Amino acid sequence: MQIELPRFIRKERIHIVRASPINTRGEYVLYWMEASQRASHNHALETALFLANQIKVPLLVYFGLTDRYRYSNARYYKFMLEGIVTVRKKLLKRRIGFIILREDPPDGAIKLAKRACLLVFDRGYLRHQRTWRNKVIQNTELPILEVEGEVVLPIEFVSTKEVSYARVLRPRIYKYLPYFLETLPTLEPKVPFQGDISDNWERETPEEYLESLNIDKSVTPVEYYLGGEDEAHKRLEVFVQERLFRYARYRSDPGMKVTSELSPYLRFGQISPTQILKRVLQVYPLEDVNVSSFVNELVVWRELARNYAWFNTFYNQYEGLPKWARATLDLHAKDPREYLYDVEDLERANTHDPYWNSAQRELLTKGTIHNYMRMYWCKKLLEWTEHPRVAFDIACYLNDKYALDGRDPNGYSGISWCFGAFDRPFPEKPIFGKVRKMGASSLLSKPNLQLYLEKFKQLPPDKRGPE
Ligand SMILES: Cc1cc2nc3c(=O)[nH]c(=O)nc-3n(C[C@H](O)[C@H](O)[C@H](O)COP(=O)(O)OP(=O)(O)OC[C@H]3O[C@@H](n4cnc5c(N)ncnc54)[C@H](O)[C@@H]3O)c2cc1C
Repeated sequence: MQIELPRFIRKERIHIVRASPINTRGEYVLYWMEASQRASHNHALETALFLANQIKVPLLVYFGLTDRYRYSNARYYKFMLEGIVTVRKKLLKRRIGFIILREDPPDGAIKLAKRACLLVFDRGYLRHQRTWRNKVIQNTELPILEVEGEVVLPIEFVSTKEVSYARVLRPRIYKYLPYFLETLPTLEPKVPFQGDISDNWERETPEEYLESLNIDKSVTPVEYYLGGEDEAHKRLEVFVQERLFRYARYRSDPGMKVTSELSPYLRFGQISPTQILKRVLQVYPLEDVNVSSFVNELVVWRELARNYAWFNTFYNQYEGLPKWARATLDLHAKDPREYLYDVEDLERANTHDPYWNSAQRELLTKGTIHNYMRMYWCKKLLEWTEHPRVAFDIACYLNDKYALDGRDPNGYSGISWCFGAFDRPFPEKPIFGKVRKMGASSLLSKPNLQLYLEKFKQLPPDKRGPE
């Protein structure tokens, strides 16, 4: 049987991983949901449903829940599960099957693929996501499609190699942006799912899942962000209606609330970047100064981060930095440091620097740090650790452990930027060498810094950790 690909999705988003004949004895089309954890505006989901309708079988969506993932902790599992419980409700209402297996994600996919006609998965850019997908590819013979819906423009369409500067991506992104804002339909299944999914690990609430998972519960959930696509859309509305008009002017002022605060939702694929942009463009034109500044973050920098993760093998390591940056940092590695802190002091926001401590407290309580403070927070680590490599690793450790939006290409590219990546050399300084330095004076130039400092003056008792 020949299958046709959907025309409502740009063909550049659909990667045919294996074009073998479909398994005609299969009972369903399987969509392994991993990077795009949402029921609406999900390119992989609608592709899978379109194919299921063509083959006249139901669609089964699978999510693998493992407690063996590095940094599995109650903070981000709760957020993720709030999203997954919502996805399940929405898909069941659409008469699409949904199954959660308590398995390493690829193992569950391999198991369920045995009874499938064909397999669809979404694209993830990090090393472990690619390893997981390769494992599935090697252990099934089914036809496989990989759908790229976590970016506005497919990464290899924009560039077939690693790009070192945002300015290189920008013109191509702007040229093709409108083409990739296609409208995604919400399809109805022709054959509702009624199969037996007896292994289904079904719980009502995120808390019930959390109880039975063997994960680090010392990193407690945050109150500030509630997970799930409905929450993401509420935040998007607040952003579009109340914040966006001041974005360009105030996005770098930590005391002002003008950014979208959508990064945790984007991190878990609970909202799609194209959907965000389409909503923004319903209200303001692309040429608007605030929209243009927002597109620069949401599309240019965010997709540069994905390019970096996809093409640079060492994207989350010191070795991934450009040669000039490593050379200059290495040269200054032995420069005297006035303060040296160990991880525990840093983790508890226990340094002499009130600005840094506030940023760390924001991370511990809220699960994110304001972008401007994040740069300061990361650059300071260079001054307070014995080697830039140690500073790099500590930045990744703290960000991955406590940030709801951590373990994401943006985190690794943001940290790498603080160590010279995507930036140019500056006049040489102690410790930083030619890497751009950031001191408290740039923070003090922000009119509303005091408001920020007030907000993160203290840690609430449940976020203080062991004494
Ligand atoms: C040291 C350091 C670590 C960082 N770690 C992370 C991280 O772990 N996860 C993360 O999502 N972002 C990270 N960033 C980028 C940035 O700080 C956050 O994306 C931003 O603060 C999120 O807030 P927002 O959603 O309100 O952003 P908005 O200003 O509303 O921007 C919208 C979206 O665009 C993307 N974006 C914004 N700024 C950047 C940027 N500089 N690079 C790439 N994408 C961007 C994010 O997905 C963000 O949600 C880091 C930056 C630095 C300097």
